[in-house]
Amino acid sequence: MALFIVAVVFVITAAIYRHQLEAAYEEAGRRAAPVRSAVLPFPQHYREILLKYFPYYQRLSREHQNKFEHKLMHFILSKKFIPRQFDAVTDEMKLMIGACAVQLTFGLPQVYLRHFNKILIYPTDYYSSISKRFHKGEVNPAFGAIVLSWKSFVDGYIYPTDSVNLGLHEMAHALRLENIIHNDEYDFFDDDLVEKFDSYAYQLCHLPTNDGNPFLRPYACANEHEFFAVSVENFFERPAEFKMALPGLYEILSKLLRQDPLILNP
Ligand SMILES: [Zn+2]
Repeated sequence: MALFIVAVVFVITAAIYRHQLEAAYEEAGRRAAPVRSAVLPFPQHYREILLKYFPYYQRLSREHQNKFEHKLMHFILSKKFIPRQFDAVTDEMKLMIGACAVQLTFGLPQVYLRHFNKILIYPTDYYSSISKRFHKGEVNPAFGAIVLSWKSFVDGYIYPTDSVNLGLHEMAHALRLENIIHNDEYDFFDDDLVEKFDSYAYQLCHLPTNDGNPFLRPYACANEHEFFAVSVENFFERPAEFKMALPGLYEILSKLLRQDPLILNP
């Protein structure tokens, strides 16, 4: 009888604390991402998706693809992917969003955008009750979240050379913020290069109207964060044209990100 009562109490307690236990288990899993990504094999169907849909990965040598896969597993396992207005985040979604983050940070092996441990996904552009307008994506440092419209994210990769890529744009915002947030990944950018980049942006955006450089879309000049994000989109989507139009800026960005999309396998 006593055993029965203990069992009933255990079941009731487990039911009450189920959500907390599940959350703690998930959190432990994410914290173990470095170890899990080192021992878990990269699934073959993940590789097939990347080979089909991710041009950056396709262009890497086998050695670099291995490095990319390892970083990608680490990224996916360390984030909480949260579906909004639909039921469940698919493997393809996690993989493509993770691959986008790895593309941007491939030259920065220690960077996983640690502060941004939540990825919120909406099926399409979503209405914000705060700004009273539709959004394609945003980065919310207070909530540690990167928010993406899946439709707009996919468009970024369907049209790979139009210099518009929502995923890279939002990841770039997160990357710049991560650099100034105090944690294990803090301060990975060279301060002088960031200063050079911002002063280049200022000069370009404050040219007399008719002499303005038309290479980057006008939104780049909204502020230094948008300038960085739009530059990142162009850096990966049309690097040759970027280098030709704004060689100084291209060189600084290449040094900041420690990679050059024109020479992916140096
Ligand atoms: Zn932006």
